Amino acid sequence: MVTREELRELAQFRFQNGDNCAVSFYFQPRTPLNKAHREEIIQAKDLVRSGLRTMNGNGNDECAKADLDKILALAQGLPSDRPRAKAVFAYGKANFWREFDLPPDLPQSQLFVGQRFHLKPLASIFGAQSKLCVVLLDRRKARLFALRADELVELGSLVHRLPRRISSDRHAFKDDHLGRKTADEAMHHYKQIAARLKDQAEAGVWEKLIVGCHDTNWAELETHLHNYVKERLLGRFSIDVASATCDEVRERAVRIFHESLDCRRHELVHLAVSQARGHRRGVTGLRRVLRALELGEVQTLLMGENYIGQAVECTKCGHLDSHIVRYCSVCGSSTLKIDDVSEGIIPLAIRRDVELLYVKDPELDNAGNIAALLRYRAEVGRAAPLSA
Ligand SMILES: [Zn+2]
Repeated sequence: MVTREELRELAQFRFQNGDNCAVSFYFQPRTPLNKAHREEIIQAKDLVRSGLRTMNGNGNDECAKADLDKILALAQGLPSDRPRAKAVFAYGKANFWREFDLPPDLPQSQLFVGQRFHLKPLASIFGAQSKLCVVLLDRRKARLFALRADELVELGSLVHRLPRRISSDRHAFKDDHLGRKTADEAMHHYKQIAARLKDQAEAGVWEKLIVGCHDTNWAELETHLHNYVKERLLGRFSIDVASATCDEVRERAVRIFHESLDCRRHELVHLAVSQARGHRRGVTGLRRVLRALELGEVQTLLMGENYIGQAVECTKCGHLDSHIVRYCSVCGSSTLKIDDVSEGIIPLAIRRDVELLYVKDPELDNAGNIAALLRYRAEVGRAAPLSA
């Protein structure tokens, strides 16, 4: 789990100009289900060794050597059954070293040595994380879980004692009475769950909700759920409350979360593209996205998973320009060509609290593989309505 503050610290880091000393290392285990990661660890160590060889070869990047040695030692110490991914950012010149444990959702293990940290994989994981609550329930019991990235923690339970059931013809009246009482008790139980969820949502304990229960229980609970809680529901699955294991719950909940995230990404692409067509709160294409970013207009930035665009960056003011010009159009200083513009865009987006999402979507492909949803349009001078 990486926090916004941690990501911001990396994006704002001040490097000394011109040195290739910023090291970014990502380790990805094979799959969460495959227990043998030895091969991946060997590959990760090879990555670092080859980085060291390159460095010894050109003799210019000695400053990163100590950091690479340290990362090599770290890779050697990774246990073979490690289920989680890892990221390290180091800049030895300023004694800077940060390590993060991540969900195993990186595309691959990678090593970068350059003039700044390579943040794309970290930003991609950050954009796909959310504070989730998972609740399992039936008529007498509820179990509450917190799901952060791929980590599931059981927080507690609510148990309602039902009256003992007496079953015989002679006790028909008693049965009827008990039936009503049982229904009352269950209703009370559902109301308690609904109240607990509402309190937690309002207190910001979680942002989104996933429910595990059978259809009949859902119908009984739903009527008591506050709208505020219902709006945060991502989905539900059927499961037996008492016997469900943490692994089962995590697997089902993570799947629902990823499906809802995919769905949201496609909706946002569609919205940004259609808003851009109407010159409202959306822009597409690198030139217009860069301009909107620098004007502080962007709310959500959408990039194709493998998006690469060329641009120049001003060595003095940091202005990004999709036209490959030698001098900055803002301050006149010399510019530096960057082969992957996302290297410049990602830190800018993070510093400005822009939501950053990577999407694989044909509609985004057709729109130049980069688009943004805007908070407002500065040129209009007021917030344009979002509805087209
Ligand atoms: Zn400039």
